[in-house]
Amino acid sequence: MYDDNNIFAKILKGDIPSHKIYEDDTTYAFLDVMPRSDGHTLVIPKADATGLLDASGQVIANCMATIQMLAPKIVDAMGADGFLIQQFNGEAAGQTVFHLHFHIVPRKLGQSLRPHAGEMADPETLASHAHIIRAAL
Ligand code: AMP
Repeated sequence: MYDDNNIFAKILKGDIPSHKIYEDDTTYAFLDVMPRSDGHTLVIPKADATGLLDASGQVIANCMATIQMLAPKIVDAMGADGFLIQQFNGEAAGQTVFHLHFHIVPRKLGQSLRPHAGEMADPETLASHAHIIRAAL
């Protein structure tokens, strides 16, 4: 069951601030506040869905189109070499926010990732990364 009190639903409603990267009619993208690497971005649908299994094919396709458009730009903006897509379904898999989301995690050769949902980043650093990425779109 989808609970519209989850933190990403609140971000979509504008009740909680986020470091916005991109928005269109069906998707919203913003920086993860506990980034596994610089530029770690979350892409979410505007439609209600807790995970991959209760989202329609169209909703998933919309997210994928946004990921395909954003990922190379985030990689370039962050001076990365590639990117990892992560998507967790259920508590056992490590999902902590129950609104469907895809992680775009920029990767640099030879650089290891910080832990999943580890440390909060400095808000000024996040604002600066969001600014750099938005300027590259
Ligand atoms: P998961 O559900 O495990 O796929 O991950 C949820 C992700 O959301 C984690 O990587 C958190 O760092 C991130 N997160 C939690 N709260 C916020 C928030 N208010 N703004 C941005 N990212 C968040």
